[in-house]
Amino acid sequence: MKKTKEKEHYLKEIYKLEIDNKPISVSCLSNLLLVSKSSVSNMIKKLVNMNLLNSAPYKPIEFTEQGRELARTVVAKHRLIELFLVEVMGFDSENVHEIAEEIEHIESPEFFRKVQKMVNNRKIDPHGSPIPDVEF
Ligand SMILES: [Zn+2]
Repeated sequence: MKKTKEKEHYLKEIYKLEIDNKPISVSCLSNLLLVSKSSVSNMIKKLVNMNLLNSAPYKPIEFTEQGRELARTVVAKHRLIELFLVEVMGFDSENVHEIAEEIEHIESPEFFRKVQKMVNNRKIDPHGSPIPDVEF
């Protein structure tokens, strides 16, 4: 997995845990992402250095404001793309997740603003999850 992709993958999973009010810990991320605890710890350290997460011994891992905003943006991109694939391109909703996993890493605000327009700024993805409100 490419560096940015991997980082954004972690942020997305942490965001989902936060939304579900679940504790964010190395062991639970290790189970969710199917990677070793030491790889999770290494990535957490990187994300802390990038000021995207806060982590201290014996304290739960938390987003910084910046980290949460980035995570919301990636989740919004993913869900918008899924909506676009179903509504505009006629894909079956079962078949859009893997494609969205790739497209969500594109760094083009204009691209996502146009997608947003093409789905009439709708706020719910094809699986019923809310699309976070973000400025691309
Ligand atoms: Zn998906």
